[in-house]
Amino acid sequence: MISVRDAGDNDRFITVLSPEMGLIDISVKGAKKLSSGSNSSTQLFACAKYCFRDRSGRYYLNSCEPVKTFYGLRLDMKKLSLASYMAEVIRCTVTSGQTARDIYRLFMNCLFMLSEKDTDCALVKFVFEMRLTAELGMIPDLLGCAECYRSDVPLRFLIKKGIFLCPEHYLSDSPNAYDRELTQGMFEALRYVCLSDMSKLFSFRVTDSALWELGRISELYILTRLERGFKTLEFYNSLTSE
Ligand SMILES: [Zn+2]
Repeated sequence: MISVRDAGDNDRFITVLSPEMGLIDISVKGAKKLSSGSNSSTQLFACAKYCFRDRSGRYYLNSCEPVKTFYGLRLDMKKLSLASYMAEVIRCTVTSGQTARDIYRLFMNCLFMLSEKDTDCALVKFVFEMRLTAELGMIPDLLGCAECYRSDVPLRFLIKKGIFLCPEHYLSDSPNAYDRELTQGMFEALRYVCLSDMSKLFSFRVTDSALWELGRISELYILTRLERGFKTLEFYNSLTSE
């Protein structure tokens, strides 16, 4: 579940990410009187089985059964704010009525790593941003240099174009915040995160300094591709810059 808002004294309106149906808005009547199990299923970021009925195109919750509540997120402001950012990006990019299996798996993986594995927020954010853009069909050209296909040299990532160029083919002398230099290890990490099997998404290692730069790159990349900013991201960044 990626968004919840109260509707009146007793009801709630929840937005759920479904692997089969994309985003679904469901009205929850009497939400505050639900049994504790159902109540935890209508908490933000809970993963649950929702059973609902369709009445003239609007969905009403019949029952729900919690699968995972990701309680660990609630114990850490930084993790919670990162989860909120991921949910906002999904709300703005996934459509209703379309399958979203891989995006669902990506989001579940990221929440699990944050909540249960205590994975570094910066790593989860980098993986989420790069893989989501790839799943949305905005994957950069990861073959290597766009001119000669070399990937055995440090490459320049031209974020606005979504391509890489080797030192021989990168000709610009003027500094440009959207052209970032990558070591081979960083390029391999980018390629891994965009293309690996979803179950092995976090099975790679980078140094802290490489992760720091990759995080700047993935953020710039997703914001450039989606042509917008996110309030939740500003809040997350305000926490991490302290
Ligand atoms: Zn080249």
